[in-house]
Amino acid sequence: MKTVIVGAVAGGMSAATRLRRLDPTAQIVVFERGEHVSYANCGLPYHVGGVIADRGSLLLHTPDSLRARFDLDVRVRAEVVAVDRARQVVLVREVAGGAEYEERYDRLVLSPGAAPFVPDLPGIERAMTLRSVTDADRFTALLAERQPRTAVVVGGGFIGLETAENLHLRGLAVSLVELDRQVLAPLDPEMVAAVHTELRRHGVALHLGTALTKVLPDAVELADGRLLAADLVVLAIGVRPEVGLARAAGLTIGPRGGIAVDDTMRTSDRHIYAVGDAVEKTDRLSGETALIPLANTANRQGRLVADAIAGRPVHLDGRLGTAIVQIFDLTVAVTGWNEKRLRAAGRTYQAIHTHPASHAGYYPGAEPMSLKLLFDPGNGRILGAQAVGGAGVDKRIDVLATAMRAGLTADELADLELAYAPAFSSAKDPVNMLGYIVDNLLTDAQRTVQWHELDAAVTAGATLIDVRTAAEHAAGHIPGSLNLPLDELRARMDELPAGDLIVYCQVGQRGHTATALLNGLNRRAANLDGGYRTWHAAT
Ligand code: FAD
Repeated sequence: MKTVIVGAVAGGMSAATRLRRLDPTAQIVVFERGEHVSYANCGLPYHVGGVIADRGSLLLHTPDSLRARFDLDVRVRAEVVAVDRARQVVLVREVAGGAEYEERYDRLVLSPGAAPFVPDLPGIERAMTLRSVTDADRFTALLAERQPRTAVVVGGGFIGLETAENLHLRGLAVSLVELDRQVLAPLDPEMVAAVHTELRRHGVALHLGTALTKVLPDAVELADGRLLAADLVVLAIGVRPEVGLARAAGLTIGPRGGIAVDDTMRTSDRHIYAVGDAVEKTDRLSGETALIPLANTANRQGRLVADAIAGRPVHLDGRLGTAIVQIFDLTVAVTGWNEKRLRAAGRTYQAIHTHPASHAGYYPGAEPMSLKLLFDPGNGRILGAQAVGGAGVDKRIDVLATAMRAGLTADELADLELAYAPAFSSAKDPVNMLGYIVDNLLTDAQRTVQWHELDAAVTAGATLIDVRTAAEHAAGHIPGSLNLPLDELRARMDELPAGDLIVYCQVGQRGHTATALLNGLNRRAANLDGGYRTWHAAT
């Protein structure tokens, strides 16, 4: 059996090496049009920034090392330009010289990845993109030779932010342009506020809600007419699946523009499989197709496709889109759907915001974080989570992603037995706390109000009660609120106005106790979810 693989990075090399482990005699030929194979593209921004100084550490293998260890026939600077499905051959063109030849296959695996999207704008040829080691080399050469002082990064997604941070580390004055009103679309607005603050704190100038219209020799022009100095222009406005080869071969392309595959990664041709950024996956929550250009899924699919070719039963589960990014001193991580998407899709959901510490407050070094959980109050299904903060953000999102994958309900988070000692967590881990809050909401029927519902509730006649201390109230409060500290609440009940009450504290915990007390005394009270901190971040 001869397997030909197109693309020698994440998905392609996972497939090739797994296939070798499963079948010592299989003939495996891998074509890569670039110069490098099996490299760590996720590390590229950090090489540009000098954090990963050793370029060689990004190159995990060479064709020679792959031949020696795995008996793989890896051919670089060799582009597959056509697939003749009837004859089961690919047409290969050597990048140097253009010589062409055919290669026969029994099974073909496409892992061509995705290409950065480049809009057709005046002067766009000067803009750089970051996808390959060759691209990173272009950056480092330009930084060394021309010593640029200003950079404009267009696009506030994961790669745009990582590139902005790393150019800042190289001493450039960096501006970030983003069409949306916020960076990092997977975050809801109240969660992204800390990211904006962090970027500005490090001197990255944010230009939100505007678009690039023109690239000039030493500047860029924006849709709002502003000109930004730009010795260097970086485009990071998303990627498009590389489907040219598949489309020309007549393979089915899915509704989102990726190669359509079944849950064994087989395309519409039974001899051809496809994996990685080029293919459409299934969204775990909706069952609809989705483009999820992330390394975990590309690697997982690469392994599974080898299993499928070797005749093992395989099945790729729906994906959650779990992702994480470092932005200076902040960590941001997400899994599943955000509130914007749930609302737009008309799904029933409830949101919870908390602001725990990474570990017990009495042990030195605890770092704050904000967590948001979205769940379906009808069946308890966890729909998504977001975390922004310092240490421990990664752990909490990974636990929540695991819980979602395992089908745990939101209240079952309270039951998770998570490792605890003061240096690592709290006896009630932040993930457990989310479960406790869900339990409060579902079983004690405690009502919460979200930050964006506050104005309407007050207009309808509710009174806002700040149950923090007088000093906290004086340091900043929601306009129009009465200050009645929690510990004085019982004694001063007669000061409360008639009608509905909305209680708030700093993060929602004292507010919960106050709400329970007031409800117990037959007052209609609701707690402001996430407290003053969430409201303040959002407004
Ligand atoms: P790729 O790894 O892109 O490999 C495709 C290869 O196919 C390319 O080398 C290309 O040259 C080759 N090719 C294409 N067409 C042909 C052809 N016709 N003939 C021969 N060769 C061809 N993901 C994360 O989860 N976390 C991160 O932190 C993260 N950071 C990233 C940072 C950067 C700068 C980039 C660019 C990506 C990052 N990703 C990250 C995404 C991750 O790298 C991709 O999801 C993953 O590499 C996809 O694997 P793939 O095999 O589908 O495509």
